[in-house]
Amino acid sequence: MSAQPNEKVQVIASGDRTILPEGTRMIPVYIMGKKYLLPETLTIQKAIEYAGYQFIRACGCRGGICGACPTVWRVKGDYQLHFGLACQTVIEEEMVLAQLPFFPANKAVYDLEQLQATGEAIASLYPEVMKCVGCNTCTRACPMDIDVMEYINAAMRGDVARTARVSFDCIQCGLCSARCPAQIAHYHVAQLCRRLYGRYVLPRAEHLASRVDEIQAGKYDGFLEELTRMDEDQLRKLYVEREVEPLDSEGWEPGDKRYL
Ligand code: SF4
Ligand code: SF4
Repeated sequence: MSAQPNEKVQVIASGDRTILPEGTRMIPVYIMGKKYLLPETLTIQKAIEYAGYQFIRACGCRGGICGACPTVWRVKGDYQLHFGLACQTVIEEEMVLAQLPFFPANKAVYDLEQLQATGEAIASLYPEVMKCVGCNTCTRACPMDIDVMEYINAAMRGDVARTARVSFDCIQCGLCSARCPAQIAHYHVAQLCRRLYGRYVLPRAEHLASRVDEIQAGKYDGFLEELTRMDEDQLRKLYVEREVEPLDSEGWEPGDKRYL
């Protein structure tokens, strides 16, 4: 791969790849440093596929939830780096793309049962949290618009609950960690806090515990065996006809508002 984007243009024969709306412009985009002309309406993910690449990694739910497709790009002539999810971002003219399917952030190994929901637990497993310099680069890099610096500051104060709540929408894409001058593994810190919060701070869900007991006692074994023998049509019918708890007037399931 060359250091500079390759100016030789690869023109993709559209035809059988996708049906484009009339008037769709083909715009130049750089993938792996190579220039392609691609339909302006496509997301980064679809544009890369249109150009002929197949995703083995760096692609998951295609709906902005799984965090598998973080992408870094620069637009030629603009000094700024931009960040986003390939499945959620529409291509722009002269984008120079780099996929980031995995970021090698430090991930601590721990036994949740041996920890407590305290600042000491965070500081012992992720001492680099204390090196935050307050630059807010992590927040600017986050495609989920999470106030990342705020949850890191809460972790520095030992506020497990706030770290868990502010980071709740984190999809573990790693873009914040890729930019942090203090080398903090934000999303792993956040996950530790959400685990501690769920294990030690939130009230125990008694109905869930009794359901787990029922499962372990074999109450559903027969039904599961029956399910594995069904064909697709039978499974679909069963799914459509399943019993669903009614939502309240605001669209919430019973009990969902407890933790707001
Ligand atoms: S990028 Fe790192 S150093 Fe900067 S505010 Fe975020 S956590 Fe702190
Ligand atoms: S907090 Fe970091 S890892 Fe989580 S979604 Fe935002 S940028 Fe991605």
